[in-house]
Amino acid sequence: MRLSEFHRVPNFAAMRVALTTLGCKLNATETSAIERRFVDGGHEVVEYGQPADLLVVNTCSVTEQADTECRKIVRKGLRGAPDAKVVVTGCYAQLKPDDVLSIDGVKAVVGTASKLRIADMAMEILAAPQKMRIMEPLTRMTQFTSARSSRVNSRTRAFIKVQDGCDYSCSFCTIPLARGPARAMPLDQLREELIAVVNEGFYECVISGINLGEYESPGGERLIDLLRMIDSMQLPIRVRLGSIEPNTLTSDIIDVVAQSRTIVPHFHIPLQSGSGRILRAMRRRYNPAMYRSVIERLHRALPDAAIGIDVITGFPGETEVEFNETVSLLQSLPWTYLHVFTYSERANTDAASMSDAVDVVVRRERTRRLRDLSDVRTQEFHRSQLGSVRTFLPEGHDPSTRTWTGWTENHVAVRLTGAADMPKRPMRVLLVHEHSGAVDAQVLDDASLQQLYPSLRTGTA
Ligand code: SF4
Repeated sequence: MRLSEFHRVPNFAAMRVALTTLGCKLNATETSAIERRFVDGGHEVVEYGQPADLLVVNTCSVTEQADTECRKIVRKGLRGAPDAKVVVTGCYAQLKPDDVLSIDGVKAVVGTASKLRIADMAMEILAAPQKMRIMEPLTRMTQFTSARSSRVNSRTRAFIKVQDGCDYSCSFCTIPLARGPARAMPLDQLREELIAVVNEGFYECVISGINLGEYESPGGERLIDLLRMIDSMQLPIRVRLGSIEPNTLTSDIIDVVAQSRTIVPHFHIPLQSGSGRILRAMRRRYNPAMYRSVIERLHRALPDAAIGIDVITGFPGETEVEFNETVSLLQSLPWTYLHVFTYSERANTDAASMSDAVDVVVRRERTRRLRDLSDVRTQEFHRSQLGSVRTFLPEGHDPSTRTWTGWTENHVAVRLTGAADMPKRPMRVLLVHEHSGAVDAQVLDDASLQQLYPSLRTGTA
């Protein structure tokens, strides 16, 4: 059923809405943007799981158990709000709308192209006598819809989606099917969004996209132009970049970040496999030698930068020898943490029909080995940072231990003792002691900072 078929729309009444997200940061950004539109429309946003009139679930198709997870999260929402109507959107909803509509309690499925308009459609969805399927064809997804997270739930970090969709065709990936072709936010709009983020009181903003390295604005500006613009704005916040494909990470980009006072030294660069043959089967656009040269160049320019790497274990046909090529490449490179994904077959991908599937037990064992490698490397990175002065942005507080946790600009996980009412603003800290996956820090006032590091500029961020 299409929206235009409705005649009866109830008079405006504020409703209680609870939203939740499965999957990536981009999804979380979009959920936050949907949430903001509900708030702007005069509705009340409540925690997911609390009594509400409407539940919005933004799903992911990347997870192995997208269907189970979707059902589970819908059930969880309905336990707290048994009379609520449920709207499901996101990549899984786009790929399997009929499966989603068959879930008990789901009133509407909304495709990717319409997800940011859910607040506008909510009253009609509530009033509709039957289930709704609001799906626009993916070919129409040429328009970029902006999404920025907001302070509705007092988060310390904002996210701005500057790019969506992907024109690559990696053989394991459903994202081009779920999100459509690549498109991007104009630079002028990004400038306005960044100013809004500062005015809302955030201290950090993440610039994200599905394939950020392929950012191309309607005016033809590329990622390098975007970064130069951000740098020239001299924002009083720090800006972090989302994941960038290695084949798009140019020397110019590295140089701009190395010289920037705003864009922090933290990169996330997917590898997926260290085997040339597997990379070709994945249809990735680089080989191990190219990957090595990017990481080494980056490390030379920014020796204290955090470098995160995505790896997939157990891609079809991955032999023990090829997996060990990944391990050897990783061991020889200067990175700081891994995100390891165990390969799982996804419908509608070429990889799913490849022969030589790797035994699931073997896949999981390879994942475990890489995660162990990651833990050791992160600990080494944390230890290498002891004695340095960094900017810490507190995020969460544990009242039982009176401890704040958060991150430095170069992605060191920090613990800081402090009262719950300590202001959540950036502060200069000395990194003093590493244990259990994080680093203890001491706040430095300007005087002690000058004593320790006479040549350092003091102040925040
Ligand atoms: S670059 Fe490859 S893995 Fe990433 S979104 Fe595009 S198709 Fe998927």
